[in-house]
Amino acid sequence: MPPQKSERRGIVLILSSPSGAGKTTLTRMLLQDRRLDLTLSISVTTRPRRTSEVDGIHYRFIAQRQFEAMRDSGELLEWAQVHGNFYGTPRQPVEELLAQGRDALFDIDYQGTQQVRQKMPTEAVTVFILPPSMKELRARLERRAEDSPETIENRLNNARNEISRWTQYDYVLVNDDLQAAFDDLLAILRSERLRRPRRTESVAAFVDKLLSEG
Ligand code: 5GP
Repeated sequence: MPPQKSERRGIVLILSSPSGAGKTTLTRMLLQDRRLDLTLSISVTTRPRRTSEVDGIHYRFIAQRQFEAMRDSGELLEWAQVHGNFYGTPRQPVEELLAQGRDALFDIDYQGTQQVRQKMPTEAVTVFILPPSMKELRARLERRAEDSPETIENRLNNARNEISRWTQYDYVLVNDDLQAAFDDLLAILRSERLRRPRRTESVAAFVDKLLSEG
């Protein structure tokens, strides 16, 4: 039998961008397409919950003491301080997914991305999403109207720093057209899933059989 698509090592698809560049919308589009079978890694954070967010779906909102306990006992695959709050990726759910040959989607910042690249060089596929302009970035943050004016200023300042990290990523997209950015993400995912090092075991068995024919 030809190698099955699922017979491969799982990928950790990491999306990073400054807040407001459209990453959350793109993440939602990826997750809504069930055929892609992507599972979002739900981070823990000490940031206060926004009114639109649900605990356990967008994040697990925890106290700083609990965060420190998780970090110190090695339960986090990576962690970072962003905009004055702590964020981290619980390790166990990711390991379980990868062990099943399934893929995880991470929405994390550049600091976390570096840690995951070091710990999982084979699995990590990193994508940075740029806004079309700083003006548009500000407009998107203001339209969201969930953050205070100081928070928006803080996020814009941080955005400049984050944008300067773009060279650390495998892929860079400019999100000036949502559908085009989404199509590019699908192309990245599809190609990365087909990469030979991710499929060596299943293809090797197939090739052995091919070569033993006639
Ligand atoms: P927000 O507070 O707007 O939800 O997220 C702020 C930033 O934190 C975003 O850039 C987001 O990607 C990043 N972030 C969210 N979860 C994690 C995480 O678990 N680890 C790291 N390193 N960054 C995260």
